Amino acid sequence: MSDLRDLYQEVILDHSKKPRNFGPLDHANHEAKGHNPLCGDRVTVFLDLDDAGMVKDVHFQGSGCAISMASASLMTELVKGKTVDDAKALFEQFHALVTGETDAPLTASADDMDRLEPLTGVREFPMRVKCATLAWHTFIAALDGKRDPVVTE
Ligand code: ZN
Repeated sequence: MSDLRDLYQEVILDHSKKPRNFGPLDHANHEAKGHNPLCGDRVTVFLDLDDAGMVKDVHFQGSGCAISMASASLMTELVKGKTVDDAKALFEQFHALVTGETDAPLTASADDMDRLEPLTGVREFPMRVKCATLAWHTFIAALDGKRDPVVTE
């Protein structure tokens, strides 16, 4: 079990040190900002959404703790190429897993959930759940065209 924890720690460090899809997106048609005041994490998510409702491209910018940056980096990798519905379903299931909800529909693919497994350790630390979900909440806000920044409570 501790080997698995080390592996998860490595995934988080790798993504936080070398975040994927980091930086502005020139052809973005949606964007939103998020802030987690408890930890100081800040993230901006940029989306290129096509007419058919598919995430053609996604980038993020920001600064914060390793978990928030790793979560944002993994999120961009996972939602790129997905439809809006599939991306939302994946977040719902991930959110349910880290918050301990049990009534979310299990529609996300097992492969995608495996990719997010390194982040699920936060469920033992309620304050860290906000770090792990900030980029996702911000992604949803960008999809929905929200203009006000997302602030986690
Ligand atoms: Zn944080």
